[in-house]
Amino acid sequence: MADQSDRNAPSSLNAEFLTFSAKDTASRWLAADDLQQEVYRHLASYVPRILNMGPTGGVIEEQREQQREELACQLILIAPLEWLLLGEEPANGLARLQENNQPSPLCGHVFKVGEPTYSCRECAADPTCVLCMQCFLGSVHKEHRYRMTTSGGGGFCDCGDAEAWKNGPYCHKHTPVESSRDAEEDPVSQLDPEMVSRSLRIFSIMLQYAVDLLTSEQEEHLPGGLEPLEKGDSYYCMLFNDEMHTYEQVIYTLQKAVNCTQKEAVSFATTVDRDGRKSVRYGDFQFCEQAKCVIVRNTSRQSKPLRVQVMHSSIVAHQCFALRALSWLGHIITYSDGLRRVLCQVGLQRRSEEEDSSLIDKLMLNDSKMWKGARNIYRQLLMNSLLMDLKYKKVFAIQFAKMYERLQSDYVKDDHDREFSITDLSVQMFTVPSLARMLMVEQNLMRTIIRTFVEHLRHRDLQGRFQFNRYTAQQAFKFGRVQSLIGDLKYILISPPSHWTDPLRVKFLEGLDAFLELLKCMQGMDPVVRQVGQHIEMEPEWEAAFTLQMKLTHIITMIQEWCSTDERVLIQAYRKCLSSLTQCQGGISDGEQPISLSLAGHCVETFRYTVSQEKVSIHLPVCRMLAGLHVLLSRMDVASRFPEQLPLGELSPPLLMELPLRCLVLCAQVHAGMWRRNGFSLINQIYYYHNVKCRVEMFDKDIIMLQAAASMMDPNHFLMMVLSRFELFSVFSSTDFRRRFREANKDLVQQNTLIEEMLHLIIMVISERYTAGVGQVEPLEEVRREIIHQLSIRPMAHSELVKALPENGNKETGLERVIDRVASFKKPGVTGRGLYELRPEWNKHFNLYFHHYSRADQSKAEEAQRKLRRQNAEDTALPPPVPPPLCPMLASLVNLLQCDVLLAVEGAVLQWAVEPSGGGWSESMLQRVLHLVGLALLEEQQQLERSSGDEDTSFKFTCKITRPGDAPSPAGSVLALLESLQNAPHLEVHKDMITWILKMVSNIKTIRQRTTSTSSVSVSAGSRQEETVRDKDKAERKRKAEMARLRREKIMAQMSEMQKHFINENKELFQQSLDELEACTSEAPDLSASSLELTCASQVCVGPCRVGGTERRQPVTCILCQEEQEVKGQGRAMVLAAFVQRSTVLSKNRRRSQPDPERHDPLFTHPDLSVGVHTASCGHIMHATCWQRYFEAVQLKEQRRQQRLRGHTSYDVENGEFLCPLCECLSNTVIPLLPHTHTPTHSVDHPSLGEWLKITNQLVAALRSSLSSQCEEGAEPAVPEGFRLNFIPQSPFSSGVREMITTFSLSAYKVGLRVNPNEQDTRVPVLSWASCAYTIQSIERLLQDEEKPLFGSLPCRQDDCLSSLTRFSSACWTAAPLRTTHTHFIRLFTAVLCDYQVENTPCILDMDMFHLLVYSVSSYSSVHCLDQSGSRVVDSGHLHLLHLITVAHLVQILLTSTTVEVYMEEDGEGSEEEELTCQLFSTLRKHLGSVLPEPSSGWQQWRCVKAAALPFLRTAALFFHYLNSSAPPADLLVPGPGQWEALCSYLSLPSNLLLLYSTQHTLLEPLIHRWCTHPGVTQVLKGGGAIRFPRESNRLISLPGDYSVLINQASSFTCPRSGGDKSRAPTLCLVCGSLLCSQSYCCQTEVEGDDVGACTAHSLSCGAGTGLFLRVRESQVLFVAGKTKGCFYPPPYLDDYGETDQGLKRGNPLHLCSERYSKIQRLWRQHGVAEVIGHAQEANQTLVAIDWQHL
Ligand SMILES: [Zn+2]
Ligand SMILES: [Zn+2]
Ligand SMILES: [Zn+2]
Ligand SMILES: [Zn+2]
Ligand SMILES: [Zn+2]
Ligand SMILES: [Zn+2]
Ligand SMILES: [Zn+2]
Repeated sequence: MADQSDRNAPSSLNAEFLTFSAKDTASRWLAADDLQQEVYRHLASYVPRILNMGPTGGVIEEQREQQREELACQLILIAPLEWLLLGEEPANGLARLQENNQPSPLCGHVFKVGEPTYSCRECAADPTCVLCMQCFLGSVHKEHRYRMTTSGGGGFCDCGDAEAWKNGPYCHKHTPVESSRDAEEDPVSQLDPEMVSRSLRIFSIMLQYAVDLLTSEQEEHLPGGLEPLEKGDSYYCMLFNDEMHTYEQVIYTLQKAVNCTQKEAVSFATTVDRDGRKSVRYGDFQFCEQAKCVIVRNTSRQSKPLRVQVMHSSIVAHQCFALRALSWLGHIITYSDGLRRVLCQVGLQRRSEEEDSSLIDKLMLNDSKMWKGARNIYRQLLMNSLLMDLKYKKVFAIQFAKMYERLQSDYVKDDHDREFSITDLSVQMFTVPSLARMLMVEQNLMRTIIRTFVEHLRHRDLQGRFQFNRYTAQQAFKFGRVQSLIGDLKYILISPPSHWTDPLRVKFLEGLDAFLELLKCMQGMDPVVRQVGQHIEMEPEWEAAFTLQMKLTHIITMIQEWCSTDERVLIQAYRKCLSSLTQCQGGISDGEQPISLSLAGHCVETFRYTVSQEKVSIHLPVCRMLAGLHVLLSRMDVASRFPEQLPLGELSPPLLMELPLRCLVLCAQVHAGMWRRNGFSLINQIYYYHNVKCRVEMFDKDIIMLQAAASMMDPNHFLMMVLSRFELFSVFSSTDFRRRFREANKDLVQQNTLIEEMLHLIIMVISERYTAGVGQVEPLEEVRREIIHQLSIRPMAHSELVKALPENGNKETGLERVIDRVASFKKPGVTGRGLYELRPEWNKHFNLYFHHYSRADQSKAEEAQRKLRRQNAEDTALPPPVPPPLCPMLASLVNLLQCDVLLAVEGAVLQWAVEPSGGGWSESMLQRVLHLVGLALLEEQQQLERSSGDEDTSFKFTCKITRPGDAPSPAGSVLALLESLQNAPHLEVHKDMITWILKMVSNIKTIRQRTTSTSSVSVSAGSRQEETVRDKDKAERKRKAEMARLRREKIMAQMSEMQKHFINENKELFQQSLDELEACTSEAPDLSASSLELTCASQVCVGPCRVGGTERRQPVTCILCQEEQEVKGQGRAMVLAAFVQRSTVLSKNRRRSQPDPERHDPLFTHPDLSVGVHTASCGHIMHATCWQRYFEAVQLKEQRRQQRLRGHTSYDVENGEFLCPLCECLSNTVIPLLPHTHTPTHSVDHPSLGEWLKITNQLVAALRSSLSSQCEEGAEPAVPEGFRLNFIPQSPFSSGVREMITTFSLSAYKVGLRVNPNEQDTRVPVLSWASCAYTIQSIERLLQDEEKPLFGSLPCRQDDCLSSLTRFSSACWTAAPLRTTHTHFIRLFTAVLCDYQVENTPCILDMDMFHLLVYSVSSYSSVHCLDQSGSRVVDSGHLHLLHLITVAHLVQILLTSTTVEVYMEEDGEGSEEEELTCQLFSTLRKHLGSVLPEPSSGWQQWRCVKAAALPFLRTAALFFHYLNSSAPPADLLVPGPGQWEALCSYLSLPSNLLLLYSTQHTLLEPLIHRWCTHPGVTQVLKGGGAIRFPRESNRLISLPGDYSVLINQASSFTCPRSGGDKSRAPTLCLVCGSLLCSQSYCCQTEVEGDDVGACTAHSLSCGAGTGLFLRVRESQVLFVAGKTKGCFYPPPYLDDYGETDQGLKRGNPLHLCSERYSKIQRLWRQHGVAEVIGHAQEANQTLVAIDWQHL
């Protein structure tokens, strides 16, 4: 290592390097008077020489350079410092220091980007408290409800911080041990005093050095004492990072400015982004200045130019060393807590009398001026030193708080993200409650934060309110940065104090003052005015105001929580808030026109105000804060205990409710469509006003304010004000207003909506009592009610519920604490997610007018509830549930229900409803009135029950509704109206509800009578009576339900009868197919009895005694024209839509390099099956002509589309892709359907193997010579008898069919080899055969893996696909020149016979035998057709080929089998099979000798052979089955044993396969000799790379059960290209397990002229274009196919609630769901990935727009 770097070091340094002694240097320093001067002199002389990188060379050079630098730094610069500090050999000194070290009780592990962090939902003090994985696994929290996230970098593990955890603050590792030292003791006292003084000096010199260099404002000069001896003209052009310019801009500019390649530019840009700066040029000043000008000029057009600086090389060198010095300090203090404290002391010491700041202060104040890399390094030092020392953490926190305002201002002006700013350290201090309280009391931190925040929002209107709706982009950007201050405020408020001190009260209230000032700036901001006539021109900006509201929501809630823990604070806060409100609303009624309203005998004074004409604002935080505090007064009962301290008397209820009411009216009017011209901006605002993120401190509080006001007012006055603000007063105050309104053709629907909205508001004001303080409720009742109402809409997943509930500052909803009581959980299946379903006993709590329902929710819930009740045979009335009792302070609210004005309104609506038509009323209006009546009745019943009879209740609703109404509804009493409406035919829907009301009325009457007559009668009697009425009702409904059931059953019976009838009618059809089956099976034995010697006892699929399928007709229907057509060779061509793709699913060798497509010889397939061609089909049949027309239309459409819009479709027409017209399955070609083969003529001769070999050999020799040379005359080999070499057979197919044969052949050729189509290429037929063989092999594996029987279990589409593919394979030779197929056959045949004299004949171990079988059988026909004798059949050739290749496979198996010595109990005597196996093996050993292992037992060998040969036999059986359409034997239609024998006999093979060899011993012995002596065999066997049989099925990689294990693995993964950088999107290949750096510039590669991301590139090599990946940080599965297509797929990881977490947003622990993973695996094995992508893209067009290739 030293040698290496020496070679490259400058020679002058080299010499010194060897003679330099750190020890001597250190002692010289020590002896000097001025240590700093000495050290500086040393640094001035060495630093520029060592840290001078000069021009950047290649990557390797740069790395070597760095190593050299590193070494020189350590030896010449750092080592003397260490000697000086320790006074001895550093290694020894440090070891001794460490012995005395008391490690910090904190873990303090600093998180890398992407590392998993854990937080406990039960025990963490706040969500920022996290553990590292190690601590988490050793903690109690892993058994708790925890949250898992990935770190964004920075931050550290809080293990060991007792304040961060309510429980279990220590993991196993960090549990404090009883130590010899007291924690309070000063660790410095443990050190040698000499060392303390040395460390003080050296630390302060080095820290000073670093701080001076990093914060120096001067670009040209070094601090005194560091000036270089000679200042050469060597400069750097330094480029700095900013957040304005994109990668592309920077790369482009750099290429222009410094003449670098794109690759270098990418590397520069990556480094600038990571480290914050990078020198892009080195040279003299002029040279660097030039580059700077170009960069500035090029980037200044749209924005501020990129920051570039030309810096002298010595300055850059010292800055680099300054960073190293800081790292060194951080490193040294890890050895000793004493030294750590010394460093803290040095850092925070005031430097001199005149300077007020410390070194650390100076660093922090210059933070925003430093580049990213420097910030990171010094911040890391702060975390390791100050934040790890309990004493100095406090000192530092105070210092930080003092500078808070300044630091934040710097940050706001800066453009770097917060994680790169020193302000981000606030989380480390402010979240510690004790520190936060101290800072609040001593530094008034709460007020400081709020004031700093307000200070930065200067854009105000005339009244001093924020004005967000006119924000410019720059203001919006600044606003975005200021928001982080709210985060700080949240940290200090997150846990309310457990006990208050007076100073804390004072400072909190001062903070509150500041906060109220902030709220006052928001009160009434961004007001809106209704637009009439014209639509607004520009949508006003509304998001900023709502962002602020959303961010403050938790703060407001937290401040209220703080108030609720101390009565004195609460009272003061209430007073302050009220006075703020009074200030805001000072002139609200001034200058308005006073009016007086009277209705139903009541009269109220108010002023005129119309929401639809004047300004109205949604932002009323001061009102809402007061509402919140008002509820607290009620909840804590403060108002009644300290009335004298509260200004309740000063409250003016009408003024309190004025603004919230306006806001609610605004919402109603928007719903009624009155504000359409105000655009989407307003609609969005109204949406957020009700949204779960805002409503707690917006809508909910407005309702509360109305409740508070109503409880303090005359209910009649309250309602009249409401009517007036809704602009509905005249509707109910004058009898003929509605009539006149209607006659004037005004918008009645709009007015009806307003009435509905108003009634709804009244319902909410009366019945929303689930906030503690409004009603008397337990803490969890509120969230329970929310959940009940969500689940009343429909069953929901956990995440949906969480989304519907408001989160508190701790991101908790309280859901878990109640969910199991109210709902039952239903687990998910392989798809979908787990769902919670409401338990039926909670249905009675359903309230149709639940205030958080949107209109859509409400109608869905109503429908669901009515349906449920019908199913349970109950009435469908949805009466209000009994609300909880009100708190005393708001108790008078109930009087609203029985006040005269409400009764008048109710009466009016009921009166309108008497008339069936006219649009004068609406169903919902009536429903709401009925609901209100119901509420009143419930209230009366409750009061009666509570009063227990002896005192008269004040609530007399039943009494009031029997009185005849006053004007304007003089017709009759409310009760009378209800009675008359009960049987109105047009009110059928409401009948149940009216009946319920009338029953309630009579009940209450009964109770009243009882209680007045005999007070002893209990109330329950009344309800019991109601019960009996209900029971009766129930019985009636049950009877009806029973009748309905009987009716259903009858219908079912009728239907099944019809079904039977259908089968009878179609009996012929069923019978026919059965007959056919029988025909196939019965014919075979018949034949065996005939002239043939072979016994064909059962079905046979190959050889002369097989049975063909020509007897069966094949009628098919074209899906395009619906015409029926029979499949015939000479008929119209019929085709199947098909998809051909390359595949590596069966690959046993993913490392094999891709062959050159132009030269690759595909005739022999290596047994590793590294790449195959797979064909699939959806099984849909078309006329070839119909398909062609369809495809042309698709092409035309695509051309037109491309002219209109750019971009891709889900299929690539140019590559021949289309979607099946019926099922939209992705396809890229068609396979022609061909007729069945004929059953062979059994009368002809069947030559024996010997005869056949002789004839074929002769024929091959003749063909070879005729092919090879026309010129070579004479010595023409004899042609076997009956053959004619020059015979040209007639094609058995029509031209249409031939054309389709060519079509598919070319597709397989094109896709399989990735080449352009070329009909002349001799390889065309080979690829068709390859696809047939590979597809059969992959289907055989699939059946085996799923343990399905070989036959009968495939779906139709696959069955059809295989049969057409196989028949095609054997017929495609007809479309190729005979020469071609003859050449192929000759080569294949000689390979089987191992005539290795012939060129390029591979050895037996380099061929996949099934491919060989398919190819030779398929090409044999082309040779056989030359036989004109008519005495031989092609089938005998097939059988002999099968036999030969099977023997070859046996040899292949025996050669490659390794003996696994398993001694099992063996039979003494070996069976015939075993003996023959042994014999064959010893023959092989005779030929090959010691290359083969010692033979194991015959039993074992035979067992191996059987297992290894099985897949081959199964694929062969499939092949011949489809080729010859022969029915399979029964044993193969079921899985399980007996397969072997059945297979062998189906294939015409002896079940003792070895007989094949032993019966033909003389013929085969020489062949085996040739096989074994092929030089390739020894080579392969010695190389050890032989493929063994059976080949195991490939699986996707195994994944860990716990997802965080994956995250952890990925977090330590670094980008393989950019030297140790963390990868931003680590992505795991599920096929081979490689981790890739996806979606990033650094790892793009060029493939065929396109830049593609790591995933696409990897999928090309690993999956032949198809890739399955897991994006680890997103928890998302990614499928890609080719370069342009891809989709996301749900990951196989689920949380406990049965849901995936795509994007890892929720953070619930995730566990592997093996069923889902198997599903993905099956998809892969079935080659279904491309199809899934096609469907996904088709269904979701936005997916098409994603640049999949860059992932
Ligand atoms: Zn830890
Ligand atoms: Zn720990
Ligand atoms: Zn816990
Ligand atoms: Zn057709
Ligand atoms: Zn289809
Ligand atoms: Zn990378
Ligand atoms: Zn892979």
